[in-house]
Amino acid sequence: MRILGIESSCDETGVALVETLADGGVPRLAAHALHSQISMHQAYGGVVPELASRDHIRRVLPLTEAVLAEAGWTRADIDVVAFTRGPGLAGALLVGAGVACALGAALGRPVLGVHHLEGHLLSPFLSADPPQFPFVALLVSGGHTQLMRVEGVGRYELLGETIDDAAGEAFDKSAKLMGLPYPGGPWLSKLAEGGDAQAFKLPRPLLHSGDLDFSFAGLKTAVLTQTKKLGADLEARKADLAASTQAAIVEVLVRKSLAALERTGLKRLVVAGGVGANKLLREQLNAACARRKVRVHYPELALCTDNGAMIALAAAMRIQSGLSRPEARYAFDVKPRWPLDALAETPQPSPT
Ligand code: ATP
Ligand code: MG
Ligand code: FE
Repeated sequence: MRILGIESSCDETGVALVETLADGGVPRLAAHALHSQISMHQAYGGVVPELASRDHIRRVLPLTEAVLAEAGWTRADIDVVAFTRGPGLAGALLVGAGVACALGAALGRPVLGVHHLEGHLLSPFLSADPPQFPFVALLVSGGHTQLMRVEGVGRYELLGETIDDAAGEAFDKSAKLMGLPYPGGPWLSKLAEGGDAQAFKLPRPLLHSGDLDFSFAGLKTAVLTQTKKLGADLEARKADLAASTQAAIVEVLVRKSLAALERTGLKRLVVAGGVGANKLLREQLNAACARRKVRVHYPELALCTDNGAMIALAAAMRIQSGLSRPEARYAFDVKPRWPLDALAETPQPSPT
């Protein structure tokens, strides 16, 4: 079965083609293409929803043609059209859903709405070292920070999550306070390479809370206080402040992941979402897990942030495991707010 996946939940248009294998193994990625809107939103310091929707409209069909050409397939080769149904920006989601359903209707093919976070969560299956179930998942993206126990496709138990800002948000907001471009995570992390992580004493919220929840709002406030205190000296101390901020975020993520592994007794950790690209996080998790004989799996660097491959893959894995059935019903809806643990294990009826 050949699946076209379309991602348009935020500021990247991602399109990909995935093919399921006869032996039931991990579906194969045949082609993927991405257009990031980052440079367009940078002037505003964040995503402008209206501009995001308009740009998805411009990009999605040309990207679809590009992946078909790359895979050497024609439109008629597509068996299922998958799209991100939520969570995300409503207008942006509607573009992907609308185009997916229009394509499905035109080709006479069924469609399937996919959960964006399930896409992130399953994306490490496309890596050279795919995980096996069950595992603990650390989902760290721009809008979410969650620890989950994952028994299989569609079997997600939330162990803990952020009570305020997400880890990616903590990176981005701190970076903004330091005058770095949007999205600040990668910039802050680059700047931190030349800084002293011990230079500033920053809080590690909820580190000893005894549960698996996170809180990053206080860290952002502490960074704000430091930038004010530094005043004109900020420029000279920026690398130190970046390194200290990154160290605080990473320490909390590592310690809570280890606590989740201990609590569940599982020996496998899967990291997913944009912050999963962070070098320090990978180094520290690798070291801590090696000491505990825990295997860690990450998505390929290019598939940490939003992309179409993870959407096509999630659709393929749900269909393969019998959890979802694509349907030839093209009256679509989107779910801007949609908790992952609300995904039922039983087949989901398509919107009517
Ligand atoms: P969600 O998936 O929760 O809806 P999102 O789609 O915006 O949110 P992603 O695309 O998974 O999130 O990730 C984007 C986030 O990852 C941004 O906050 C960005 O700063 C962060 N990020 C990307 N690369 C790095 C890095 N190397 N270090 C730290 N943060 C990073
Ligand atoms: Mg993005
Ligand atoms: Fe995302």
